[in-house]
Amino acid sequence: MTSLLLAGISSLVTNDPQRGGLIGEVPDAAVVIEGSTFAWVGSRAEAPAADDALDLGGRAVVPGFVDSHSHLVFAGDRAEEFAARMTGQPYSAGGIRTTVAATRKATDEQLAANIARLVAEMRRQGTTTVEIKSGYGLTTADEARSLALAREFTDETTYLGAHVVPPEYADDPAGYVDLVTGPMLDASAPHARWVDVFVERGAFDADQARAILLAGQAKGLGLRVHANQLGTGPGVQLACELGAAAADHCTHLTDADVDALASSGVVAGLLPAVEFSTRSPYPDARRLIDAGVTVALASDCNPGSCYSSSIPLCIALAVREMRMSPAEALWSATAGGAASLRRNDIGRITPGARADLAVLDAPSYLHLAYRPGVPLVAQSFVGGRPG
Ligand SMILES: [Zn+2]
Repeated sequence: MTSLLLAGISSLVTNDPQRGGLIGEVPDAAVVIEGSTFAWVGSRAEAPAADDALDLGGRAVVPGFVDSHSHLVFAGDRAEEFAARMTGQPYSAGGIRTTVAATRKATDEQLAANIARLVAEMRRQGTTTVEIKSGYGLTTADEARSLALAREFTDETTYLGAHVVPPEYADDPAGYVDLVTGPMLDASAPHARWVDVFVERGAFDADQARAILLAGQAKGLGLRVHANQLGTGPGVQLACELGAAAADHCTHLTDADVDALASSGVVAGLLPAVEFSTRSPYPDARRLIDAGVTVALASDCNPGSCYSSSIPLCIALAVREMRMSPAEALWSATAGGAASLRRNDIGRITPGARADLAVLDAPSYLHLAYRPGVPLVAQSFVGGRPG
């Protein structure tokens, strides 16, 4: 196994609590990668020899971003709907149903090409792990193929048959829940690690969601919930009751919701590019962090409410609009995302962790929020390989 020394790191963010502070920053640092993992991390002056060496010329290095929430399996786009929303024009086309219709019509090759394009776009912006949900097929065959295609790009695949009730079941939502917990789950579970439900007025209520999550759990899937996005509701409490890994959105929370998140250890996934793209109020990150809730930042990249794949944008929004510190925002986009996916091998630069990192064209991670909109990621490594 060959080893690679990365030196000339002006500032290294490790997320190693033993190094002090929230993000364990090391100045004038170096790392050694052996195979697919980090073998050594520390200050450059103490770096051991390695087979190869690369001098990064005074750039900052951060853990690769862990995007714990995305919807990349779809066809078509909804730019006209976005333009209408931004200009206050009525828009009569069917929102998510537009994407469902386009996705059902697309070939496997078209869907895979779109996923590949978006994953590459994410990689160029420093994302080294991405969770991908189904949810635009909404038939047994289309959900199963969505997940099988997503699996070619990530192990973190999520069955979201319960995204919305599709038009053909508009008069029979109970029948749709039977499908989601029955044949659709049977066909989808082999390609999924997680099951997720959109708990919202107009989507699924608490009883439907509980049935869907428990059915998924019985098939060995971990639990995630789209919770409290558009208003207060039962999503967060359900996630906490069932011990889900993540309750994502968390835009409208009661005090009881915050207490439940803090005491259950469910990770609150905040998706500020959605609020940016829909011109909506941001979630109250300070309230959550100050209560002791673990917060993840993720993109929610999807063709409707947020067609951005950029974690640097999320970090900038979290700092500027949600009063997270730059260190908190970076931690949430790396270690927080890893916690949301219940992974301890990613989201950190420590010996033994997978060698995922982003090299920034900047002297420190602060520039991610300080220079919004600027493409700062010079290079990323995934599993020790430049990518
Ligand atoms: Zn989502």
